[in-house]
Amino acid sequence: MIRIGKWLWQPIDLGGLENPGGILSFALAVSFRSIILTSVAGLGSLPVLYGLRILALPVDQMIRLTVVFSWMFGGVLSGVLAFIVGHVIRDLSRSRAEFERLSRTDSLSGLANRRAFNDAFTRIDGEASLAIIDIDRFKLINDRLGHQAGDQVLQAIAAVLRRVFGEAHLVARLGGEEFGVILKGGSWEQRLVQVELARRCVAAEAITFDDVELSVTISVGVAEFQRGFRAESVYAAADQALYVAKGNGRDRVIHERTLCQPKPDYEHEVGDDARLFGVSSLRG
Ligand code: GH3
Ligand code: MG
Ligand code: MG
Repeated sequence: MIRIGKWLWQPIDLGGLENPGGILSFALAVSFRSIILTSVAGLGSLPVLYGLRILALPVDQMIRLTVVFSWMFGGVLSGVLAFIVGHVIRDLSRSRAEFERLSRTDSLSGLANRRAFNDAFTRIDGEASLAIIDIDRFKLINDRLGHQAGDQVLQAIAAVLRRVFGEAHLVARLGGEEFGVILKGGSWEQRLVQVELARRCVAAEAITFDDVELSVTISVGVAEFQRGFRAESVYAAADQALYVAKGNGRDRVIHERTLCQPKPDYEHEVGDDARLFGVSSLRG
């Protein structure tokens, strides 16, 4: 009896609603609780009604009627309603999960967006590397081939980064032609090797648009997280390393720990076009 009482007040598990079996057991749990509660309430009120002499029928008939009503209304009706509600809850939680996923995904590249990146970035606790990646001379692609070509390059580079870093590290598009990667595990030197691999893979990737072959490169600034470091200073250090990578000729990875020289001037060099566009190119 005590067990049934405890079971009655236990919250119903909504976690299993993803499968039809889960919805059915949710409906049965609601249904049985309703049967017990309506039976107890109905049968419990009979002595009071009897005492007040307002029972419409003899007691034995009233008991039978109460039990039948408990099963019909308490059981069947609430079971059917709970079955419908179970489906509604499942659909709502699915669309909520999808909404949550979309709000954290960059629509063009399919990578995590800045929001997801910032969340992960501020939660880092321990050793990790931050790589800020910027496509070299990207504006030139837009200017010479159009925005659509630029978008295609962004997608191609996102695919390379996803391939190189896999699921183990968070790759995000921070905005424009800038990506951020949070690398965990291994030593900082091992993580740096992986970033360098990504740079080489991008440089080796054959990206074509309307029969024009592009040789696209990236510059990368890397900085290290350590327990107690402020996230903003790590970001600033990686950004400064990226700035140095650009100033030193682009298509390179610079780690903040290798920085000792003053910042170089950050200017576009002559001959950008020649370096950006590969063989077939735009000379004509
Ligand atoms: P640098 O090597 O110094 O990084 O030169 P850059 O040309 O890559 O840098 P800059 O910041 O001058 O140009 C970035 C360009 O990226 C400017 C902007 O129009 C373009 N851009 C930003 N977001 C998008 C996008 O979603 N799609 C496309 N196609 N272009 C974009
Ligand atoms: Mg940029
Ligand atoms: Mg750029």
